[in-house]
Amino acid sequence: MDKKYKSIVVLTGAGISAESGLATFRSSNGLWNNHRVEDVATIEAFQRNPEFVHDFYNQMKPELLAAKPNPAHLALTKLQDNYPTPVSIITQNVDTLHEKAKSRNINHIHGQINQAVCLNCGHVLETWNDVTTETVCPQCSVAGMMKPNIVFFGENLLYMDKVERILASCDLFISVGTSGVVFPAAAFVQTAKLYGAETYEFNLEKTSNNFYFDHHIFGKAGETLPPFIDELLA
Ligand code: NAD
Repeated sequence: MDKKYKSIVVLTGAGISAESGLATFRSSNGLWNNHRVEDVATIEAFQRNPEFVHDFYNQMKPELLAAKPNPAHLALTKLQDNYPTPVSIITQNVDTLHEKAKSRNINHIHGQINQAVCLNCGHVLETWNDVTTETVCPQCSVAGMMKPNIVFFGENLLYMDKVERILASCDLFISVGTSGVVFPAAAFVQTAKLYGAETYEFNLEKTSNNFYFDHHIFGKAGETLPPFIDELLA
């Protein structure tokens, strides 16, 4: 690729972590680890039954803690380490595989499994231990106000000011392993395109909002992304 881009944004979804052994959302018919989204990923579910929702995320932690980054995550780090201009990552994933791959500039717009936020004071607690309805906030010392730092349906996404800024200024937008049905992340490609970015989609198949992508690269991200990154760096 001859062109040098001024700013690159990579949006990642559950598909980038599939080759690390983590189930995607769509692969299980809209169930997430065998639970209905309405039971574990809405603010109403958390208000109704916080113990159950805490348990669900606590049970996911060992698998996500043990997971290892795959060649797609590592390729993005290689790009960040070697490309002359900024490369930002926006991820919908709650796993920490980009961090484990030693990427930087990662925006977890849907939150992180290893964090809990205090609904009393806003403190974000980082922990792989279980968080429960008894957990005491280390900042305000109030018990029972910690919520998994996962953005539930009906809540605002995190870091949106920054995300909007980088989308508006990027000239290359790359989407990896996202189905494009969870909004507003599904509309990021449209924003980037409106501001003039060239857009690439890496997925196993064409997605529902493929209209805004200039290029589609089909296949497993762990196989298709590394050679693409090498081409960008050549
Ligand atoms: P999704 O599950 O809706 O879609 C995954 C997409 O990845 C699909 O389009 C699929 O075709 C594609 N895909 C699957 N394997 C692939 C591979 N090896 N290479 C390339 N593409 C592949 O995921 P989403 O769009 O990210 O939305 C689901 C929501 O569920 C997100 O909000 C996310 O927070 C949450 N979630 C997160 C994780 C995680 O953190 N690892 C896992 C499951 C769900």
